[in-house]
Amino acid sequence: MPEVVPPAKPELIPNIGPYRRTFTCGHCRQRGLSVTTRQCSARQSLCSTGLLYLCVIFFWVPYCYDECYDVTHRCRYCKEIVGIHDGNAATQKILGGTT
Ligand SMILES: [Zn+2]
Repeated sequence: MPEVVPPAKPELIPNIGPYRRTFTCGHCRQRGLSVTTRQCSARQSLCSTGLLYLCVIFFWVPYCYDECYDVTHRCRYCKEIVGIHDGNAATQKILGGTT
């Protein structure tokens, strides 16, 4: 009896960044701009809380950097996730932050 191998799931695009970008979808093979949704990253909230205690007027600074948000890129045609931008790594790079 032949073994049924499920089709390989396309890999996520590495280093996709926080902004919309043009790509060829690995799922449906359509080419177009990604649709993005963003959320506050955990490290971004942590840095903001730290700044709130250190110097209250600068608590908003981590929210000024688009790179500090977690961003999910989806294909506009098939709605599959094609890439994820990690806001935690960017926040640590830009603002320092704790481990
Ligand atoms: Zn697609």
